[in-house]
Amino acid sequence: MTSAPEVLASALIELAEQGRATPCQGRRRDRWTSDDAEERAWAAAVCVGLDCSVIEECAAAAAERKEKFGTWGGRDRTVSAHKRGA
Ligand code: SF4
Repeated sequence: MTSAPEVLASALIELAEQGRATPCQGRRRDRWTSDDAEERAWAAAVCVGLDCSVIEECAAAAAERKEKFGTWGGRDRTVSAHKRGA
């Protein structure tokens, strides 16, 4: 069975082969992993607002990897340090 991260990787390769990029590969890509919650929220809005073509694959991959930091698939998945047990 193909994992969600593998599905996302294939979708990203396909996009690259078409000469296309996702919004998070643009000039402001640092906002997806910013320490600033407002910037991550901006990034999440961009995922949705610019209708990223791999948003479903991205969200599924992040969920499968249990991402706890950064914006993925139109959602800021950052868990506070307190909740992470830091
Ligand atoms: S949905 Fe995923 S791949 Fe698309 S812009 Fe957002 S973080 Fe990037």
